[in-house]
Amino acid sequence: MPIQAPLRKGSEDPYVTIAQQQLIALGYGLPRFGADGMLGDETLFAYGVFLVSQGLRAPTDERPKSITPAGAAALDMAFKALDQGGSEANIIDERANHPHAGRSVDTPYRLWSKITAVVLHQTATNLGEKPARWHSVPIHFCITRAGKVIQLYDLTEVCNHANGLNRPSVGIEIDGWYAGIEGQPKTLWQPKTKKLATPRQPMNLPTVQAEAARATVQWIVNTVAANGGKVTHIHPHRQSSKDRQSDPGSLIWQTVGLWAQNTLGLSDGGAAFTVGNGRPIPEAWDVRYTGNRY
Ligand SMILES: [Zn+2]
Repeated sequence: MPIQAPLRKGSEDPYVTIAQQQLIALGYGLPRFGADGMLGDETLFAYGVFLVSQGLRAPTDERPKSITPAGAAALDMAFKALDQGGSEANIIDERANHPHAGRSVDTPYRLWSKITAVVLHQTATNLGEKPARWHSVPIHFCITRAGKVIQLYDLTEVCNHANGLNRPSVGIEIDGWYAGIEGQPKTLWQPKTKKLATPRQPMNLPTVQAEAARATVQWIVNTVAANGGKVTHIHPHRQSSKDRQSDPGSLIWQTVGLWAQNTLGLSDGGAAFTVGNGRPIPEAWDVRYTGNRY
């Protein structure tokens, strides 16, 4: 137990700073006061939202007026679980070596507060494990099939990965080629420039790669929150480009995109959401969207 007795509003107990840092790391931003060591309304509000996420409080219940020992223990446990998942140490930083040629010309940089989304992609090729092979790819993060996470762009750089979603989003490329609809090899995109002797067969999604992608989404959400912003959405590239029908495909979307919605509370924008000439999420990817064609 991090504390023995409830801490009430106005408390400056040393534990308050720890709780505030843990809330920020977990994605419950404290945009006005940050980790200031004072238990005020902002911290109690974030703590209340955290309790709802843990099933320890109903959204309609009165907002907490104190941090209880049980709530503090739950916060500590969630923080420790986070620490075992995506931590900064797992990211290979390739930003200084990358030429950044895919940075937006019109809007090269943005404020943290303008970052509101994550976009998932499949590479539809196999770039492999060497960071230098990714230098031609305009994307913030790539996830290799061995589960490496390579960062190529700053989060505050706008790069050309997702058409009309470039400005608000951080992009993640998941290496490999995947069927548009799992179990339907015909929905696998085949390169037209090269004549392949035998057509590609869809790849599986290694567990280490899926876990690295999830950890990266979590890390982005936490890092944006720690800098005063808030990621609220996650999108498949398909939603912003008609030419990216199978991007990233049902397997990645269900394993990472739906996970992020269920676990982190992100939104995909809903059944009809598109940007530019994109296509809505099909029923084959998300059973909520009855009637949405592939
Ligand atoms: Zn894409």
